[in-house]
Amino acid sequence: MLNVTTAAQIILDLIQPLDPHQDGESIDLNHARGRILAVPVISNLDFPHWDNSAMDGYAVRYQDVQGCDEQHPAILEIIETIPAGSQPQKTLEAGNAARIFTGAMMPIGADTVVMQEVCQATGDRVYVKSAPQLGQFVRKQAAYYQAGNTLLSPGIMINPAELAVLAAAQCTQVQVYRRPQVAIFSTGDELVEPDQSLQPGQLVDSNRYALLAGLQQLGVEVEVLGIVPDQPEALRKTMEKAVTSADMVISSGGVSVGDYDYVAEVMTALGGKIQMEAVAIKPGKPLTVAEFVGKLGNSSRSCLYFGLPGNPVSALVTFWRFVQPAIKKLSGLSGGWNPNFVKAISMSVLRSNGQRESYLWGNLYLSGGKYEFRLAPGGDSSGNLINLAGTNGLAMIPVGTREVAVGEDVLVLMLSWI
Ligand code: AMP
Ligand code: MG
Repeated sequence: MLNVTTAAQIILDLIQPLDPHQDGESIDLNHARGRILAVPVISNLDFPHWDNSAMDGYAVRYQDVQGCDEQHPAILEIIETIPAGSQPQKTLEAGNAARIFTGAMMPIGADTVVMQEVCQATGDRVYVKSAPQLGQFVRKQAAYYQAGNTLLSPGIMINPAELAVLAAAQCTQVQVYRRPQVAIFSTGDELVEPDQSLQPGQLVDSNRYALLAGLQQLGVEVEVLGIVPDQPEALRKTMEKAVTSADMVISSGGVSVGDYDYVAEVMTALGGKIQMEAVAIKPGKPLTVAEFVGKLGNSSRSCLYFGLPGNPVSALVTFWRFVQPAIKKLSGLSGGWNPNFVKAISMSVLRSNGQRESYLWGNLYLSGGKYEFRLAPGGDSSGNLINLAGTNGLAMIPVGTREVAVGEDVLVLMLSWI
């Protein structure tokens, strides 16, 4: 059986990211949040665009104020006032100063700004009572970015800071990757919709909602194909439709070794190449992954199919551990695909059988500058969906460890919702 790290790597290696050109689209800056940049952004503007003042004060020539102090102020003639947004009209000659405000353009001839707190103005004279350093409080043109270089690199997610940079560079249209399309369905004769009345033995298809939410959070377009009964023919139809239309397919259930578990068999019948059928993870062992090549229209792009276990917690744990990184890579993100693990002090006794890498859900919080982890109350059965709600971390117990005592360190996979 594959170990978790190897399985995660195999999955990432199987993912072909969207193509920056074929799968790109131009969108309005107003709709760019959360999208992935597909091409480098290069600006023909310098940042700052011109030398400007970092303070309210006086633009001066350094040599005129060099060595001045309280007793021997430099006395300069104010030749102009330059508010932010206006262009200086005059050139500073020896003995001149210009009143200047934060963000305003430096006048020609000035090389330094003295803050108004060390100046005293009377009429058109200013007394400078403290010597600045050369170039003080001047933001030099192109100090932050020089026109023609790469301003933003492809593969980054556009968030508030990136949006601000794009706006500042006047990029009103942005070339981003299209959203990946992911088809999902649930398998099981026992499953019903949440608005159907429950008959004995039936269960609501909750995995669909879990997966839908997880996928929406990743910004993908989801095609929901509903509930498919445990019948090879019905499975074949839905699976074929899914792998033909989507960039990735996720189903839940039907991957164990029960009499009604047909997912792997149908995958193979449809020409899917099974890459793994079991991973040494708890919960989630029967994770089944197949690669379908060339099903997407006429293209030769591959479509990865994840057959997740049906247990609601197993489905989510395998989604977070294996599917989420795969989607991040697929979507064009240039890195940061793998889940974030942080070291925490365990506040609970954590138990595992030592045979498989175990993930125990609970809460991660900061206490005195250190992370602590507390197990969700009520047990860790993979059938127990209820106590998964409200948690924000999965403590990982490596193979070979049977118990983590209170006070010992544990790695915790962080789950974040914003
Ligand atoms: P399976 O992997 O198909 O053997 O399912 C394992 C367990 O998960 C069974 O108890 C199922 O009833 C349950 N299960 C399967 N699919 C879902 C689903 N979509 N939503 C909620 N529970 C499910
Ligand atoms: Mg089933």
